[in-house]
Amino acid sequence: MESFDYIVIGGGSAGCAVAGRLAVDGTRRVCLIEAGGHNNTIWVKTPGFMPFIPQASNYRYETVPQKGLGGRTGYQPRGRGLGGSSAINAMVYIRGNRWDYDNWAAEGCTGWGYEDVLPYFKRAESNERGGDDFHGHGGPLFVEDQKHANPASHAFVEAAAALQLRTNRDFNGERQEGFGLYQVTQRQGERWSAARAYVDPIRGQGNVAIRTDTLVERLVIEAGRVTGVEIRRKGKRETLMARRGVILSAGAFNSPQVLMLSGIGPAEHLKAHGIEVVLDRPAVGSNLQDHIDYVSGWETESNVLMGQSLAGTLKMLAAMVEHRRSRTGVMTTCYAEAGGFWTVLPDSPAPDVQWHFVPAVLEDHGREKVKAHGFSLHACVLRPESLGTVRLASADAAAAPVIDPNFLDDERDIACLRAGVRLSHRIVDAPPMQAFGPTDRHPVDLDDDAALDALIRSRADTVYHPVGTCRMGSDEQAVVDPTLRLKGLDGLWVADASVMPKIVSGNTNAPSIMIGERCADFVMAAERVEARSASFAPA
Ligand SMILES: Cc1cc2nc3c(=O)[nH]c(=O)nc-3n(C[C@H](O)[C@H](O)[C@H](O)COP(=O)(O)OP(=O)(O)OC[C@H]3O[C@@H](n4cnc5c(N)ncnc54)[C@H](O)[C@@H]3O)c2cc1C
Repeated sequence: MESFDYIVIGGGSAGCAVAGRLAVDGTRRVCLIEAGGHNNTIWVKTPGFMPFIPQASNYRYETVPQKGLGGRTGYQPRGRGLGGSSAINAMVYIRGNRWDYDNWAAEGCTGWGYEDVLPYFKRAESNERGGDDFHGHGGPLFVEDQKHANPASHAFVEAAAALQLRTNRDFNGERQEGFGLYQVTQRQGERWSAARAYVDPIRGQGNVAIRTDTLVERLVIEAGRVTGVEIRRKGKRETLMARRGVILSAGAFNSPQVLMLSGIGPAEHLKAHGIEVVLDRPAVGSNLQDHIDYVSGWETESNVLMGQSLAGTLKMLAAMVEHRRSRTGVMTTCYAEAGGFWTVLPDSPAPDVQWHFVPAVLEDHGREKVKAHGFSLHACVLRPESLGTVRLASADAAAAPVIDPNFLDDERDIACLRAGVRLSHRIVDAPPMQAFGPTDRHPVDLDDDAALDALIRSRADTVYHPVGTCRMGSDEQAVVDPTLRLKGLDGLWVADASVMPKIVSGNTNAPSIMIGERCADFVMAAERVEARSASFAPA
């Protein structure tokens, strides 16, 4: 049986950060196991190819029918392959609001307040604007201003300013509130996934094993300690041992799945699938939170906006040539080029809605092809109250889990989204956006709550930020403690978006990477404690 010091399960945003940090000094044998492939393709690297990323890099999960969405199922894309979801995401670099982390700390996640996590965001980051009180300059994760933004994206920011909604150049600085162009996780016009940031630098080191196309089926648990993993590769099963520990970073859907397959989860549910219960943990797979999102859409006469037409296709072809030559131009687009944060409900402690402006018409996550030029404006609820679950569909590790986000179950969420969509329309009604001659694709009487709610429920879906299914906390019920150790077993840490006790007010890639950075430090701190106690042990 092959043996390592540490095994990291999942080469996504957090897993790459953990593996990279643990391996880089060469003193530990680290194995990174990833279900998908290497993802080292032009489709992943070229930002503008995002809609064309091969299906093998995306789990393309579906939710169960959602009562709050009129019985529709939702789409849940998730990255598969090195980089995980950072290899297929929109590259928007956002950390959330200061309030989120202070609230985590206040609710029992000791050591996770904003001042505690800020150094880790900075350590991870290399911002092309340089370092300052809020930003890092020497980290592996490259963050850039967009090389190119559509004129309509600039106009969107001007339209918000025309309504006295302040312009913000740095959503990750002093204040999150306002509207502006997003910074992106790119380096010189190429996508900068977590794999490029953290795994490429350790690739080829003698102490590192990177196993792609390898599925972890379950953890090996012996006498209250996680000692390894059972894997499947090309139909063959094998066991790998971890002398010092295992870090589970399979993401908000698959981390609870791996725990449940290993006998850690709600006992009755595990028994129903014939799985022997190791730890009865009702919180595993509970507390699923996600940003529910409504995309308003307008068609335009102007073909300045992206769109499917002869003119649009010719522009794209020219843009591809430009990108191959100089890594500039339209193919550097992250699509969600502009956006902002604003408070729409009274009593919100921080902005409660985020907008993403896309200079193209989007229907059904881009899966429905629309032959028109135009733009789309996402509005999402930043701190939803509705809670969902992830459960097993079967005891087969390759089966998709059962995902129930329970979207718009709580009335406060639809109230927030309604107010957000109204503001979307006010912004588009302002002169800078009217200059494009937009026609609303989904007209509704905005003053009629019932009509607007019905439209929202018929079209809303995720903006791809599921979290919370292996909740961190100090309470008995929490899945991991504030050092990310699984409660009740030795030798296992969980590090990814699943540990967030409450969803952050913004996109979740940078926060997941921050969690990975912190986990590596917790693991190394545990090593030091072990070494000290060994040196004090009686002979
Ligand atoms: C379409 C899309 C757009 C997004 N846009 C943005 C954005 O613009 N900005 C932003 O900040 N965030 C964005 N996000 C969200 C963000 O990318 C994710 O929240 C973040 O990447 C999650 O990181 P993670 O480490 O929790 O999981 P992931 O990055 O999803 O990684 C989990 C990894 O574990 C692997 N894995 C799972 N199960 C197993 C197993 N049993 N064995 C082995 N490996 C396994 C998976 O294949 C995957 O590689 C987007 C997400 C999507 C899907």
